[in-house]
Amino acid sequence: MFDKILIANRGEIALRVIRAAQEMGIATVAVHSTADSDAMHVRMADESVCIGPAPSPQSYLSVPAIISACEITGAQAIHPGYGFLSENAAFVQIVEDHGITFIGPTAEHIRVMGDKITAKDTMKELGVPCVPGSDGGVPDLEAAKKIGEEFGYPVIIKATAGGGGRGMKVANSAEEMETAFRTARAEGKAAFGNDEVYIEKYLTTPRHIEIQVFGDGKGKAVHLGERDCSLQRRHQKVFEEAPGPCITPEERAKIGKVCADAVAKINYIGAGTIEFLYENGEFYFIEMNTRLQVEHPVTEGIFGVDLVREQILVAAGEPMSFGQEDLRINGHAIEVRINAERLPNFAPCPGKITAYHAPGGLGVRMDSALYNGYSIPPYYDSLIGKLIVQGRDRPEALARLHRALGELIVDGVDTTVPLFDALLQEPDIHSGDYNIHWLEHWLETNLGE
Ligand code: ADP
Repeated sequence: MFDKILIANRGEIALRVIRAAQEMGIATVAVHSTADSDAMHVRMADESVCIGPAPSPQSYLSVPAIISACEITGAQAIHPGYGFLSENAAFVQIVEDHGITFIGPTAEHIRVMGDKITAKDTMKELGVPCVPGSDGGVPDLEAAKKIGEEFGYPVIIKATAGGGGRGMKVANSAEEMETAFRTARAEGKAAFGNDEVYIEKYLTTPRHIEIQVFGDGKGKAVHLGERDCSLQRRHQKVFEEAPGPCITPEERAKIGKVCADAVAKINYIGAGTIEFLYENGEFYFIEMNTRLQVEHPVTEGIFGVDLVREQILVAAGEPMSFGQEDLRINGHAIEVRINAERLPNFAPCPGKITAYHAPGGLGVRMDSALYNGYSIPPYYDSLIGKLIVQGRDRPEALARLHRALGELIVDGVDTTVPLFDALLQEPDIHSGDYNIHWLEHWLETNLGE
């Protein structure tokens, strides 16, 4: 086992990893920008290294700075958290070349899943159901229109290198295809330096269902059920739950096995998430995330496992501590993402926290790097906390969420808490009757977005 690991991240996820390491008796190294000298992850780690100025390209994304921090402190492994360098295959290669262990999958697996066409081809071959669409890249407008006719409109044009909701355009008709095709290509080129696009049938009322998988890198893998993350704003998840309110135990067992078998076959190591759109009882693969997800705590809650601990174990070459037969769902868990943003338009709202009080009690987990007097810097993501609640069933979890939101105090900045207070008044949220467009419509109606 490692003696010391470095966490190449900040905020709540850096704390999350430090906590797991502490419980395993592993020393921790935090890295930070000059804007984060007073951040909680720096205070909680055993050691810290300043790796550069505030802008992330010069600090949290600076590969030489992070490798140097590892060498100076003697850290044997790097946990990337999510975001920043977590899905950067070139970074992982450099880490490995320096004899440091990357706590996550191999550079090759990250590369394959990072290109959407290659990822889809790979998944198809592994027996994972995919959205019907073009066979690989679509070279020109003429070919695009042919595919539109073949599969029927609406279709979605996607940049193979896309991510974070960028490089995707919907075409509702042959007339719309021209603009959509050119825009998706141009966005792919501008944002990712790659103008290759492919086309899929556009599903009109799907839910977002993702399967958590975990592999030991030696051909053994399990699934930890699904998370429903259908409540999204601009393709960003805001409310996640497990198990999915619409998924039956039979569906879970079936798609879970398909996913676990697929990643076992490629000797996948560590945590991964296979994302699907789900419509009329069918699953359609959209992408795989080769890292820990923001919403992993809901899965940890219902299965009672520590995914970060498990990531560290397998990275150190040790066996996983559970098999498929050990995994049983217990209750229902919900996470809400609390951002420092001002409603109604979700403008980032950094600033000084004048009062902070985290909720507690049975079934409540608050993952946050906030403290009284902390100043949220304007340079990074606006996520400031994740409130995770668990109950014996969904109604109990929702009641607990209501209670915990009432206890939470974050003064000094605006947050997205009022959004969740309002959502809890909605019958559709209580019945679980929503798809990936529900929140956009609700925001339009209620906040005039
Ligand atoms: P990104 O990597 O940019 O997040 P994804 O492929 O994961 O892109 O898709 C992001 C979101 O776009 C999905 O969660 C869904 O809301 C929407 N989407 C993607 N593909 C389709 C499709 N074929 N039909 C309908 N919606 C889609």
